[in-house]
Amino acid sequence: MNDAPDWREYYREMEKSSPLLIRYPLCGGGEECITACPYGESIWAVKPMKVSLFGVREKVRLRPVMVNPGLCRNCQLCVEACPTGALRPVDNPVKHPFLTLAYNTLRLPFKGKYNVKFVFRKEHVERFRKNNGLEV
Ligand code: SF4
Repeated sequence: MNDAPDWREYYREMEKSSPLLIRYPLCGGGEECITACPYGESIWAVKPMKVSLFGVREKVRLRPVMVNPGLCRNCQLCVEACPTGALRPVDNPVKHPFLTLAYNTLRLPFKGKYNVKFVFRKEHVERFRKNNGLEV
């Protein structure tokens, strides 16, 4: 795991080949995007990369990666489901990470389908813990 790539390598790859971009230091790793995607695990996988959690303490963590971007229909359900704003369309990426995280955290209780209840579903809490190296 120590030879895991830096998150920027995945980011640069997404810039070239995907309709979406993930600003990985903002990603919590709860896999809400994969749950929301109609094609789920046909498009997404979780992979190890060196990345911080919300800008704190970089280490190897598991994060969603688009392994089959060609299957994506660009419906943006995953973008809507992302609780932190890390996941964005490639032509509108995160420009101000701190503001993006603050804005998305504040709006979470008011989001329709993908609100706090969705984020704290048992499966997402378990994936958050697993993908951040915490005990399940
Ligand atoms: S845009 Fe739609 S199809 Fe593409 S990865 Fe997101 S949820 Fe899946």
